[in-house]
Amino acid sequence: MSPIKLIVIAILLYIGYRLLTSGKGKDKEKTDSASTDQSAGPVVDVLVEDPVCHKLVPKQQAIRLQHKEDIVYFCSESCCNRFVSQEGEKKE
Ligand SMILES: [Zn+2]
Repeated sequence: MSPIKLIVIAILLYIGYRLLTSGKGKDKEKTDSASTDQSAGPVVDVLVEDPVCHKLVPKQQAIRLQHKEDIVYFCSESCCNRFVSQEGEKKE
């Protein structure tokens, strides 16, 4: 096995470990205010925008929803639920 492969595997393990350890106890969601402040810290992932509160969230940590042809990402399940109910209201 080449050393480069080992380094890549080590980096992937590190990122996975970081996601596991940083996921808990983070970001107590505010129900109604559209806060734009983003959590500071090293960015190790692609940021995606939550269409409900317009917060940027790392793709790996985002709540995913298959919406028509697309996958939509949310910062929390409450935003996901709000999006689903809004979409439901649009259809008449
Ligand atoms: Zn949100």
